[in-house]
Amino acid sequence: GETIRLLSSSQVITSVVSVVKELIENSLDASATGIDIKLENYGFSKIEVRDNGSGIKVVDVPFMAIKHYTSKISCSEDLERLTTYGFRGEALGSICSVAEVLVTTKTAADDFSIQYALDNNGHVTSKKPSHLGQGTTVTVLNLFKNLPVRKQFYSTNRKCKEELKKVQDLLTAYGIIKPDLRIALTHNKINLSGFLPKAESDSSLTSLSSSERSFIFINNRPVLQKEILKLIRQYYSQVMQKDCTRLYPVFFLNITVPASAVDVNVTPDKTQVLLHYKESVLLAVENVLKSLYGPLPA
Ligand code: ADP
Ligand code: MG
Repeated sequence: GETIRLLSSSQVITSVVSVVKELIENSLDASATGIDIKLENYGFSKIEVRDNGSGIKVVDVPFMAIKHYTSKISCSEDLERLTTYGFRGEALGSICSVAEVLVTTKTAADDFSIQYALDNNGHVTSKKPSHLGQGTTVTVLNLFKNLPVRKQFYSTNRKCKEELKKVQDLLTAYGIIKPDLRIALTHNKINLSGFLPKAESDSSLTSLSSSERSFIFINNRPVLQKEILKLIRQYYSQVMQKDCTRLYPVFFLNITVPASAVDVNVTPDKTQVLLHYKESVLLAVENVLKSLYGPLPA
């Protein structure tokens, strides 16, 4: 039943790092030479592991996340000459029982990749063509959403950061044992674009206006973001000349974050958004400001 399934899976999949470990080992078993790992919100919103390995054959797809199915062993002798990380056929099924899972895969023989959606029992519920090259991408969404107590365990910033550190250490370990493997991790990828006035050599700003002309967008949506505004003003103030104090710098900034990282329904007019990892966004903005205007005086 459901309880037994949740109990047994929770022994394999206890954390973000255990998901990442199982998925990387599957990629290595599929002879991948490149693995890209993307995390959103420390992996709790999204974990994505993409490899350029052999891919999963169409005939194997219906069984890939069924408990105790493995393509790696076909007789008991195989167990004695085991060369793969996996052989229990447990990981993918266990991940399905504690998260929403998408598997996109293409073998050398396939014309194009297909993305499969899996339910909590590891059954394929839908499929659609996709554009990815050879290999497999496993996307794990909303980990532990159905296990509130476990999720609660990772609710503090400190726990989340510890977990991210463990993922980094794990990747380093695989990088050491597999020197030819290209392995990359990104967390909360943020993209900044926009216009910020340049600081001139005489330490003035290039674009000033007699009225407030600043615009901040998150995912193309105009927002009120006081912390970001304050940060930008702090950096400006050190390059603003005294006789310019009645003028305002002209700028706009569009911050692109993963859709799962924002909650737009905070106020009815949607100008206030809730950023799920505001510190990372502020840090990214601050890095740009620092490179443009120099560090703030201590
Ligand atoms: P195990 O690794 O013990 O076989 P898993 O549950 O981890 O069990 O994976 C189940 C099966 O799904 C694997 O045996 C393999 O056939 C397939 N599979 C999973 N991930 C990948 C991948 N990244 N590339 C190719 N095949 C994969
Ligand atoms: Mg495995």
